[in-house]
Amino acid sequence: MAVQGIRHNALDASVNSPSGPPLVLVGGTFDPPHLGHLVLAECARVQFGAPFAVFLPAGDPWRKTGSATSRPASGRTVSAAGHRLELTRLATCDNTRFRVDDREVRRHGPSYIVDTLEELHREGQGNLVFVIGSDALEDLPNWKAPDRIRELATLAVARKSPGTQLAVHDSQIAIVDMPFIGISSTEIRARVAAGRPIRYLVPAAVEAYIAEHSLYRSPAD
Ligand code: ATP
Ligand code: MG
Repeated sequence: MAVQGIRHNALDASVNSPSGPPLVLVGGTFDPPHLGHLVLAECARVQFGAPFAVFLPAGDPWRKTGSATSRPASGRTVSAAGHRLELTRLATCDNTRFRVDDREVRRHGPSYIVDTLEELHREGQGNLVFVIGSDALEDLPNWKAPDRIRELATLAVARKSPGTQLAVHDSQIAIVDMPFIGISSTEIRARVAAGRPIRYLVPAAVEAYIAEHSLYRSPAD
């Protein structure tokens, strides 16, 4: 598997320098990636003055598969990591400021973002901005080592819809300045299953890959 990871590109100039330029990280299942993810990453990247935004597809998104808990978090099967990784690459490849890091796909077991943040620190990336949507922020207390996550990275949260109330009374959590993009992967999957269009909601290459591999055809997919 070709690695389009951050250890193989121009970011190397800033490693070993904890006070170096910020690195924006967007973790997710990306099943599939959509314009909400791309706008989130680009707005955060510019807002924080980061040369690059790095997408981190989860190998085993255990909050969705339930693999690290006694019962599944949802009844849905998450698409194979290889598909989600390729979709993420296709979605991001036209932006030279976007990178895809496949370390969570290559790692065995449930994907814990805290492990990724620890690794990046060990590699000299000490200025991390971890970007999440408001739903993910609410779920953060259920993640592995939430306090350590907050020690290792600045948290930046985006509102996913105008109605979302952000329960952020914490000056250490930044708000991502982005327009509301009312798209979710759940909505994309449902549209594909129902035969409704996803054009303009996902990059054209993502739409083509979904069709070519017959992804999300059944509502349970
Ligand atoms: P699903 O509906 O399957 O949960 P999703 O659209 O939420 O998918 P994820 O891969 O779960 O996509 O999300 C990755 C990250 O992107 C999360 O932090 C999520 O909150 C955020 N995100 C997803 N969609 C948006 C959006 N439209 N606007 C802002 N942030 C978003
Ligand atoms: Mg989600």
